[in-house]
This record gives sequence, structure tokens and C-alpha cells, in this order.
Amino acid sequence: MSDAPNPARQILVIEDTAPVAFLLQFLLTGRGYVVELAEDGEKGLEKVSLNIPDLIILDLMLPGMHGMEVLKRLKSDPVTRGVGVMMCTARKYKPDLDQALELGAFDVMHKPFEKEELFEMVERFFAKSPKIKMPEMPAREAARQAAPTSVDRCFFRCWGTRGSIPVSGAEYARYGGNTSCVEIGHQEELLIIDAGSGLRQLGVKLARRGPRKLHILITHTHWDHIQGFPFFEPAYIPGFELVIYGATGFRADLKSLFTGQLNRDYFPVQFEDMRAQIEFRHLDQQQLDLEGFRVSWEYTHHPAATVGFKVEFGTKSLAYVSDNEFLYGYQGSPNDIRESSEELIHHRRLVEFVRGVDVLIHEGQYTEDEYRTKVGWGHSSIANACVLARLAEVKSWVVTHHDPRHDDEFLDRKLNRTKDLLRELGVGTPVVHAYDGLMDYL
Ligand SMILES: [Zn+2]
Ligand SMILES: [Zn+2]
Repeated sequence: MSDAPNPARQILVIEDTAPVAFLLQFLLTGRGYVVELAEDGEKGLEKVSLNIPDLIILDLMLPGMHGMEVLKRLKSDPVTRGVGVMMCTARKYKPDLDQALELGAFDVMHKPFEKEELFEMVERFFAKSPKIKMPEMPAREAARQAAPTSVDRCFFRCWGTRGSIPVSGAEYARYGGNTSCVEIGHQEELLIIDAGSGLRQLGVKLARRGPRKLHILITHTHWDHIQGFPFFEPAYIPGFELVIYGATGFRADLKSLFTGQLNRDYFPVQFEDMRAQIEFRHLDQQQLDLEGFRVSWEYTHHPAATVGFKVEFGTKSLAYVSDNEFLYGYQGSPNDIRESSEELIHHRRLVEFVRGVDVLIHEGQYTEDEYRTKVGWGHSSIANACVLARLAEVKSWVVTHHDPRHDDEFLDRKLNRTKDLLRELGVGTPVVHAYDGLMDYL
């Protein structure tokens, strides 16, 4: 039995008693699982049809469709037959329990339950279930999964890892299709960077937890970094307080660029309908202290006023630089770039900015071939991004902002090419591709 949960695992809790549902969500989220809730069987099946979880915790006595019927439907559909189902019930009638197991439930948990019992059952399920093929994890993450989880560590979770435009379809199933959004957290503290379409799903989670203050840092206002904002649930809920930070734009300011998305011609609901308290702040200070995190920023090489952020927590650090054309135009060998090379002249500040961070989340959108026709589009070739990882001596690199044309197989090949390049450069930095749902600790 493994002691540590797999952070990529998704659990759907179908439970109509809200306090029980919230308790399950609270306990399991604390163990690193991604937990969704549904309040009855029909809504549960609907959620499963949109996104198949790894495990379902299913209440037996549901309003409307009975839990046993939900189980039957799940187990008779070839698409969902393999999903693990753990029943949860306050009833202890043996015929009921026998039938649930006969229909294919993994186990039955009795209410009220002890949290140890819950963790034991869930972890026993995952220890037995076949591993789902996910994009490769960094060695660091694999090591972490073998160690007990600490709630006292700072984590990041990628909610959107695509550049330009969201994508959807079986060929994108593993890396995901949402545009830029990442959450950085520590216990109750939390920061959000970028508001691409990934922000929508994060908003669903935050709305459930109830009103609070949220800080959202925006690298720049290209669509793929702000398009999730109109769909961000907390913005519509009174009591939420949103502070949105961004660089002073070259033309319109941050607020008009954000609220312009809610113009009547584009969107059915207007900014005035958002009931949260929303404030826009320009990044006029080089350093901010937010929720216990020290945040600093630096301009990147990208059209528009684009920045990258560095978030420090205690001795740990993460830099998020999603859009950056490092070594603008350079197509020579990455081996030929030295600290003194003149190609670095406009990029040195950024190298210093990310120097030595524990995690660098940085793009490498184009292969070397693709970059030949994309110079000036604002994105790096993988070869040039490898040079940044080498010069800045970062401790690990998470490649994000995947091109919408790059499907899962292409991204797998591209990651192998990136590893080869790093090897040729003599760089031992572990590298991994970001995917929607990737979570790791600093
Ligand atoms: Zn972008
Ligand atoms: Zn951009």
C-alpha cells in the first residue's frame, strides 16, 4: 500500500449531504487529490460523461436516482466500466452491501467514517488500480510521491498549459487544452498567475470553498492569458475580493482590457453584474508581499508589455515565464552561446531574474525547424530555451505554453528532443512538460 497519494488522481464525490461532501472534499484535497462534487446521481453521471475521474465515492441513498442505479449504469457502460467506485452509506443492510460489491463496487465505507479509514480505503484502491498513462513526471515528483506528503510545503498546480487558443479532442487528452493559468499555494494561502481558460475550472473549486481575497497576477493581456476571466465564478459571488495585477499596457490599461471582454457585443453578462469586489492594480513596485509569498517581476521578450513572475516562499522559489522569445532570432547551435555572447544582450536581466530557482516554468514553444519561420512571434525555440536553463542554472524546468497544433504524441517527441539537447549541453536539469492538472511541490 502506498502512503502517498498521486496528485494527478481525480476523485468525484456523489453525495447529497453537503457537510459529508465538503468533509470528503476537504480531507482528500488535503492529501493532494483533485476532488469534484455532485449532489445527486444524475449530476454525477453528467460530470462523468464530461470528464472520467479515477475514482468515484458514491452515496447509496441519493435523492432521485438511487446510488445502486448510478453504480449499475456506470458498470454497464463500456466507457465507464473501469472506473473505481467506492460506496459510502449509513445503512448496514447486508443484502445492499453484497449487491454493491456484486455490481462491481470496490469497497463500501460506512458513515460516520474516520479519516484514517477513508485514506486507507482510497489509497488501497489506487495501489491496486492500473496506472493511468499520464505525461512523464520529473524524477523529483516521482521521488516526492514515494515520500509522505507534507501539508507544510508550497505547491503549484497547472490549470491551463496551452498557448494561443484552447484545444480539445482525443489527441490532446493527456496534456490538456486549457490556456494559461497556474495556482501557487501553501496551506490556506494562494496566488493565481494568468487568467486563461484554465481559470474557469480553478474558479469552480474556489467558489465552493467560499468567499475570500484572491490575488491574480497577469503576465500580459493577450487572449490566452485573460480569456478565462468572464467565466471565473468567484467574480460573480458577493464577498469575494479580487485583486488583479498587471503591467501598465502600451495602450489601453489593465482594467479596460479585462472589462472589454464583457462588452455587450462579446458577452451576455456585463462587468457591473460581477458581484465580487474587483480591483485592478498596475505593477508599479518591483516587489510585492502577498499572502506570505514574495513576488517580483521582470519584463520578457514578447510583444506587448509582458512580464514573468518570481514567487518566493521561505527558501523556495518558482519563476513563471510563459511567453518569452529567448535569444530573439538566434538559430545557431546552443553550444555556441556564452555568458559573454552578444546575442544575450537583451536577455541578461531575465537570466539573472530566474537564476537558480527551484522551478522554472518557461515555454519552449517551437521546435528548431518551426522557429525558422516564426522569428518575431514572441516565443522560444526549444534549443534557445535550453540555453536559458543552462545559463540560469535552474534546478528544474517545466515547459509550458504548448502550441495548439502540437498533440500529445508530438509533445512527447518534442520533450525527448529537449532532453537530448540538454544532454548535449551537459546540463543535468530535470525537464518535464506541463499538463493541465500537473501538481508538484517546491
Ligand atoms: Zn501566450
Ligand atoms: Zn502573448
